[in-house]
Amino acid sequence: MIDFNIPPFTGKELEYMKIAVADKKICGDGQFTKKCQQWMNERFGVPATYLTTSGTTALEMAALLSNIEPGDEVILPSYTFCSTADAFVQRGAKLVFVDIRPDTMNIDETKIEQAITEKTRAIAVVDYAGVACEIDTIMAIAKKHGLSVVEDAAQGFGSFYKGRPLGTLCDFGCYSFHETKNLSMGEGGAIVLPTLEHRDRAEIYREKGTDRSKFFRGQVDKYTWVDYGSSYLPSDLNAAYLWAQLECYETIYNDRMNTWNRYHEALRPLADEGLIEQPTIPDECVHNAHMYYIKLKDLNERSAMIRHLRECGVLAVFHYIPLHSAPAGLKFGRFDGEDVYTTKESERLLRLPLYFGLAEKDREKVISSVFGFFGK
Ligand SMILES: *Cc1c(COP(=O)(O)O)cnc(C)c1O
Repeated sequence: MIDFNIPPFTGKELEYMKIAVADKKICGDGQFTKKCQQWMNERFGVPATYLTTSGTTALEMAALLSNIEPGDEVILPSYTFCSTADAFVQRGAKLVFVDIRPDTMNIDETKIEQAITEKTRAIAVVDYAGVACEIDTIMAIAKKHGLSVVEDAAQGFGSFYKGRPLGTLCDFGCYSFHETKNLSMGEGGAIVLPTLEHRDRAEIYREKGTDRSKFFRGQVDKYTWVDYGSSYLPSDLNAAYLWAQLECYETIYNDRMNTWNRYHEALRPLADEGLIEQPTIPDECVHNAHMYYIKLKDLNERSAMIRHLRECGVLAVFHYIPLHSAPAGLKFGRFDGEDVYTTKESERLLRLPLYFGLAEKDREKVISSVFGFFGK
């Protein structure tokens, strides 16, 4: 069976984890955490990034930093992972879902403004499949209405929008290093601060409400409990795993991109015949080969394709069930405007196997199996 995903492993992960153990520093903020954060700061041109225990907790920090209070409204797409919503629900926010664009599956920026009320406090956007949403337009709307924008770039590590790295383009950016993402540390993530304005608060929330980070920088002579906080910092063992992957960033990126490009090229004849639809990458976006999806005619055809591929030994999977139709979505939110694309497009979308090290023969088998479904 060809797996849908295999967690990335490049070879040096265990060696670096051993170093962390030998140095007797396996808690948070050790040498590997610092190396990873510095790598991101330099590479993405930002003043501060902090590793977190997950993409979910990075989003929780972003919701805290956005000062979300009970009763506030947050606008977000319904086509996303529940973590995008959970972070705001935890703060007592009401969710306001808006429709997506069918071309990128990202929030439809033209539907945001009509969803704003006097209770709206923030917009949470998602860069689906590592392809940016229309960020400039969204930031302009947020500025006009005084809203905070949280970028869920869980899938967007290493992608660009108008030449700028995803995760750095809004008020707060969140990455995930879950084992299903391009780079992994098992469970983990990072929050990106594009400016230093919220640095002190971010450090306090991350370190159980203490000013411990200031203490280590020598800015205070003892550390103390100064505000609410939690424990959002991962073990340095996980960071050691991630460091091995950051060192091989190009290798992982190129390997995934090869598979993505091969799928795109090989499946084009089916798209030309109108049998499937392929992903659209807007001109201003450079993606990171996080995901390769195709769209079938409808839910029935997609189910048939999943069955057919499974019979051929290929695991292909669908993706999000729109949040507004889930029990928690009904409880915590409402859909603003009409659901023209969210449900319809989500029912047609199918993700093909794509991971670092996917063998060429397996990739070709995926392709021929998709062709086989259409009797080709
Ligand atoms: C993976 C993912 C998350 C959650 O990340 P975890 O590290 O698994 O907590 C959140 N949002 C999106 C869009 C994701 O793809």
